[in-house]
Amino acid sequence: MAKLLEGKIVADKIKEKLKSIIQSLKRPPVLASILVGKDPGALAYVKSQSKTAASLGIAYQLHQLAESITEDQLIDFVLKLNADVSVNGIILQIPLPDNINYMKVCELILPNKDVEGMHPTNIGKVLFGRARIVACTANAVMELLNSTGIDLYGKEVVIVGHSEIVGKPLAMLLLEKFATVTVCHIATSEVGKLKEHVKRAEVLIVAVGQAGLIKGEWIKEGAIVIDVGINRFNNKIVGDVEFAAAQQRAAYITPVPGGVGPLTVAILMRNLVEATCLQQS
Ligand code: NAP
Repeated sequence: MAKLLEGKIVADKIKEKLKSIIQSLKRPPVLASILVGKDPGALAYVKSQSKTAASLGIAYQLHQLAESITEDQLIDFVLKLNADVSVNGIILQIPLPDNINYMKVCELILPNKDVEGMHPTNIGKVLFGRARIVACTANAVMELLNSTGIDLYGKEVVIVGHSEIVGKPLAMLLLEKFATVTVCHIATSEVGKLKEHVKRAEVLIVAVGQAGLIKGEWIKEGAIVIDVGINRFNNKIVGDVEFAAAQQRAAYITPVPGGVGPLTVAILMRNLVEATCLQQS
């Protein structure tokens, strides 16, 4: 039976370290959060960020903007936050209305205020192995892997999902650890090869958003399984991996909820502290 990789345990350790760093700063770091409209998922995420920020002594500024805002108006707003020296980090909540191009606005956030690690400069630094601000979810997965104490050197790692926020940066971070990385995506499934890749994974990371995509019987005995997926299924939140069957075969597995999720906000706050230090140096 696999051991559970619980995000809260790792997150609590990160938050403890952050508290003492924050206390040593001249003033509390300020995180500006931009929320356009009233998407329920984004509202829940903002609430969780605000709660974590308060517990760490971080000033959380929520800027709620009308759904009717134009792209140019949003850009002006971001540029003002860039110019405001009292703001250390900026987070642009998604989803955005259809008239706004997320990447266009995101690329205008100053790289050293981009606490989500999505600016091309920060993504580029991941490629060169010298990033100080790394995409939150990808970094959360790395922290969970690190918590097992298992060396990734030469390990067969299979990532399912190649999104910009998870799969792609994660592949780079794993290469830095000398893992042998395979990245699967929709085409892998469509040509019927997903199962064969998953079956040989010593470390499996799944970030798709499809309940039950990965069958428990595909999991290699003794594998580490990190399930990033979040799906509502039969009124429950589940991941992308068939949990009960996978737990019988894996050595370590993340629960959903309770695995990657609780860590992501802690890493966001760590990125803010890193950004604050970068701005002061
Ligand atoms: P995304 O941008 O929609 O990416 C999904 C990826 O899965 C894409 O690369 C897609 O490939 C691939 N894919 C789709 N169907 C597939 C299939 N049948 N077989 C193999 N690959 C397939 O989603 P995301 O933002 O990365 O998020 C993925 C999941 O993680 C979602 O459930 C999301 O809610 C969750 N998530 C959780 C956290 C957390 O903190 N726990 C954070 C972020 C995301 P194509 O693009 O080629 O179609």
